Amino acid sequence: MVLFQISEPGETQLQRQHHLAVGIDLGTTNSLVATVRDGHAETLVNAHGDYHCPSVVRYFADAPPVVGQEAKDAAYQDPLNTIASAKRLLGRGVADIETTANRLPYEFSSSDCGMPYIKTVAGNISPVAVSAEILKKLMEQAEADLGGELDGAVITVPAYFDDAQRQATKDAARLAGLKVLRLLNEPTAAAVAYGLDSGSEGIHVVYDFGGGTFDVSILRFSRGVFEVMATAGDSSLGGDDVDRLLAEWLLAEAGLTGEIEHRHLRRIIGEANRAKEALTTAASVQLSIETQTGEVWQGVLTRADFEALIDPLIMRTLRPCRRALRDAGLTTDDIQDVVMVGGSTRIPRVRECVAEFFGREPMVDIDPDKVVAVGAAIQADILVGNKPGDEMLLLDVIPLSLGIETMGGLVEKLVPRNTTIPVVRAQEFTTFKDGQTAMSIHVLQGERELVADSRSLARFELRGIPPMNAGAARIRVTFQVDADGLLSVSARELTSGVESSIEIKPSYGLTDSEVEKMLADSLLYAAEDVKKRRLHEQLVDSARLIEAVEAALKMDADGMLTNKECVTIKAALTTLKDKIQSEDIALIKAAHDKLERVTSDFAARRMNVHINEALSGKLLDQIID
Ligand code: ADP
Ligand code: MG
Repeated sequence: MVLFQISEPGETQLQRQHHLAVGIDLGTTNSLVATVRDGHAETLVNAHGDYHCPSVVRYFADAPPVVGQEAKDAAYQDPLNTIASAKRLLGRGVADIETTANRLPYEFSSSDCGMPYIKTVAGNISPVAVSAEILKKLMEQAEADLGGELDGAVITVPAYFDDAQRQATKDAARLAGLKVLRLLNEPTAAAVAYGLDSGSEGIHVVYDFGGGTFDVSILRFSRGVFEVMATAGDSSLGGDDVDRLLAEWLLAEAGLTGEIEHRHLRRIIGEANRAKEALTTAASVQLSIETQTGEVWQGVLTRADFEALIDPLIMRTLRPCRRALRDAGLTTDDIQDVVMVGGSTRIPRVRECVAEFFGREPMVDIDPDKVVAVGAAIQADILVGNKPGDEMLLLDVIPLSLGIETMGGLVEKLVPRNTTIPVVRAQEFTTFKDGQTAMSIHVLQGERELVADSRSLARFELRGIPPMNAGAARIRVTFQVDADGLLSVSARELTSGVESSIEIKPSYGLTDSEVEKMLADSLLYAAEDVKKRRLHEQLVDSARLIEAVEAALKMDADGMLTNKECVTIKAALTTLKDKIQSEDIALIKAAHDKLERVTSDFAARRMNVHINEALSGKLLDQIID
């Protein structure tokens, strides 16, 4: 897009306007902002020369919150008002975060909408508000550096983030006064940073080992488009665990036992963190910690000992790698590149293990801390219009299937899991009862066959369907998932055109372990589900038949049936009603078929009579018409 600036009098120069756009990696541990300047993507530094902004916010009773390193440094003194790892709570409900919340030092209160709030001296703070503070800080830093207001930002989110988590991220941006050009999956951003989108077609793995989480994603690049084929991970495995493990080792070595005061423990973890990072380049580090009695313990840790200590943690990252490959139906031979993301991939042993597992050297040329923000900046530059004609379409997948409830408590899946987005899928449904004028649409997420086992996202009603015979109305339900992964559902009755729609904004979402459980359950219960599904379908069919037969008897038994026929039909009807209670599909089916058999003549007779009635008194051209 080329715009002309209005010139001051005397100024004749016409400039092509450069839009200010940034990419933001809103991390669990650290957040970064980057931009494209003079055709080159770079992370922006703050006044202290740091490009890392710890994702920590400290609240005060009577002053604005502080964000970043200053807040992180205060975490020891003021743990209850210093909020870290808010990303873990973003877009989650109180019930969703119970296990996470237990591990966090904060006090929670629940709001009306089911969102958890953190109690601080500044009042109850939502995770969205905490994230907004971080975004605001980065935005101000970027505006000061770039010398103007931002036109927009691309914010990255984990590939597994569900609808609610993405929505919460967008809400945080809105709260910060930041225009979101697009939410972009973190692994996709990393692949863009490496320019894998301008290379040949291929399959790439993004291995992201950060501060508190591990994520692996498999991306396929083909015909100019990135598609996330599979994602897996461990939401409670990261650099923090390495620090804790090393701290435990330190405690044991220094002979510290029993209850350790919280602040003392924090210092020891801090020492462990320093040692870990030093061992990336050094072969050994000197360690010193204070014991409870105030003496100083000193020791040495070699890289080899460190590696032996943390090997089990590294091995734990390979499990999700295996799972993601299996989900995508691939082997390591299919992988073209492995991209390293996250501070913990600096650890040389991590690189070795990843290289060994995938059978190729991982890509590490771009700083693994910066790679996501850099990719987001490149994408932001394009989306804001600084590179006319260079539109890149980035596709992601949905983590769980989306569908609606149909008769009998069954789920009809419209968009299967791992479908690339944006996507629009539609399916036609019909009415179950004669004269039905409304239809309730229940939107569900999950892999199981039954509504009871799925997660309810929303309900809405389509009203004003013209009364018709059961099965005559044609209701088209459309699911649309946009490029940010947000879902909207609409329903339209095709013969009359009545329409209704809903944008799905659940107040909270699923935890990734819930997602995994739902996936695991779906495999475990697959056979059982099929059986249940068949039973439900049979029950729906039979209910329909019973209703039709009862209506027909009421209307036409007199005059169209002999007494004997009537008795036979009623007996078959009673038997079917009985058998329905048995939940035995074979028995129900037998009774169903019998009722159909004994009513077939009756049905034929009724049809003839009613057709004749309908035709009588009408002119031929009306009938042909
Ligand atoms: P997140 O994406 O979760 O916000 P980052 O990618 O910023 O996290 O990673 C932060 C983690 O990386 C921290 O646990 C930090 O200790 C670790 N880390 C940073 N540098 C190194 C290093 N040189 N060696 C080992 N770990 C490191
Ligand atoms: Mg990260």
